[in-house]
Amino acid sequence: MADLDIIESKTDLVADWDHLMRVFIRPEDDASRQTLIKYMEQILFGLHEFLKKNVGITEAKSLKDLSERFKNTTICEEPEKKLADVITCLIREIAPHAVNVASPYFVGHMTSAIPFFMVHLKTIEAALNQNVVKLETSKVVSVVEKQVIAKIHDLIYRQSRDFYQTHVQNTDTTLGVFTEGGTTANLTALWVARNAMFAPKEGFRGIEAEGIPAAFRAYGVERCVILASRLAHYSLRKSAGLLGLGNESVIPIDTDADYRMDIEAFKAAIARIQSELPETRILAAVGIAGATETGTVDPLSEMADICAENGIHFHVDAAWGGPTLLSRKNRHLLKGIERSDSVTIDGHKQFYMPMSCGMVYFRDPEILDVIAYHANYVNRWGSVDLGIKSLAGSREANSLVLDAALKIMGAKGYALLIDHGIESAAAFAEEIARRDNFQLVTAPVLNILTYRYCPPAAQRALALAEVSEKIRINEELNELNRALQRLQREAGKSFVSRTTLKANRFSPVDIVVLRTVVMNPMTDIEILREILDEQEEITARHLADHLPVL
Ligand SMILES: *Cc1c(COP(=O)(O)O)cnc(C)c1O
Repeated sequence: MADLDIIESKTDLVADWDHLMRVFIRPEDDASRQTLIKYMEQILFGLHEFLKKNVGITEAKSLKDLSERFKNTTICEEPEKKLADVITCLIREIAPHAVNVASPYFVGHMTSAIPFFMVHLKTIEAALNQNVVKLETSKVVSVVEKQVIAKIHDLIYRQSRDFYQTHVQNTDTTLGVFTEGGTTANLTALWVARNAMFAPKEGFRGIEAEGIPAAFRAYGVERCVILASRLAHYSLRKSAGLLGLGNESVIPIDTDADYRMDIEAFKAAIARIQSELPETRILAAVGIAGATETGTVDPLSEMADICAENGIHFHVDAAWGGPTLLSRKNRHLLKGIERSDSVTIDGHKQFYMPMSCGMVYFRDPEILDVIAYHANYVNRWGSVDLGIKSLAGSREANSLVLDAALKIMGAKGYALLIDHGIESAAAFAEEIARRDNFQLVTAPVLNILTYRYCPPAAQRALALAEVSEKIRINEELNELNRALQRLQREAGKSFVSRTTLKANRFSPVDIVVLRTVVMNPMTDIEILREILDEQEEITARHLADHLPVL
């Protein structure tokens, strides 16, 4: 902790009223104004080094070493540091050991570079400190939120001008809500679907009031299931658990050869439930628009048809892919989303917002009434208080950030980002296919693809092998790809992630694949080639050090 020792100005700081008043500083006079500017500069330029460096998940400082430094559990009695020192400390001590997700070589996760103006917008959000749970702590910001929600609703559902003029500032209806992320957006959608299915009726005050056993009794139901492809995000299982349905009630439907929900299997599952399990209800079916692992998009139009025929709530999890709708060139990939009942979209993914922001939208502006809550001191009936129909209580004014970002970027600006990701992923897939040492496992539909290292000798052996031999070779390849991903991560220059897909045409056993997500506009095909070069070098070295497995 050399740095810390230098910075630590073992202090004469005391917690007293004067000190407190200085903490609540406002830019009133020239001196305090200068101080505030100085701190902002320190932050903006101090992080420059961090943002320039490599990905930086190295072993140079292991997590174990780092955790040794963070073991003191006592809150200091007197102040330990001045703001300037805390900022320096964060920049010098914390940032170097954080992950530079903004690096163009960081292509493994759905978290990436953000436009720098987001930092400024986030600062305004913090400075205003509005709480959109209610009008009395947000006023115009609640109105802005309704407007931006209507803009995104329009992007998804394309209703008439009249429809939006009726609802954009209507205090009785709600087109969507901001959430903490995709997880709580999915949870909200399923909560709404659950309450709508088990609505109040003669002799029953609704599932929200009376709970699951009473609801199931009132409706003659024994079980309630949710149908989603195998590639569905685990937040759906979490939601089913929280909603009291049990996470085993999320029924995984097989995918087809292109990793989209297999429509025949989907139909068969519905038919089987309807004919053999009369006491089981289908709460919702979920189509994925940008599966977390493969980026694939379920056949949304066909799912919409089937859900409409069977009266099933159709939810689209577009946490990842939603903003593709901004691209004229690529929005056809999400065709059918406009026929859904609800949609999840993350702000902190392809809207390039800072952590954290999610959203959920509903086609029916009244459906959110089924989760309305009122407290006398805060949310009153008929007010615009956004907290009435939201899982969160107090929450930040993320609408200000999103609305400003949409204005700064324009739909076209976002489309450039989206198209760049999709085109770069396609070029990367071609490059992988060109190289003998790699196998493209899931081709990109959006900007995510998976592949694995599989040298020519292994490819030849696999082509000829019996099943048991195929299994053995694939297990070795799995081992090799695990090692490759770890070694590349530890080298600290670039980062791809890794996941395990179910057995497929490449492998009779579950298959370990490398996963890339191309969303950083600075990531180009040159960089992606370098990443493959590095993987070839790493593997060559690794295989030389170990018994040749193949
Ligand atoms: C990321 C993601 C989620 C979860 O969103 P969080 O913001 O991480 O809570 C859900 N579904 C899909 C398809 C996702 O990609």
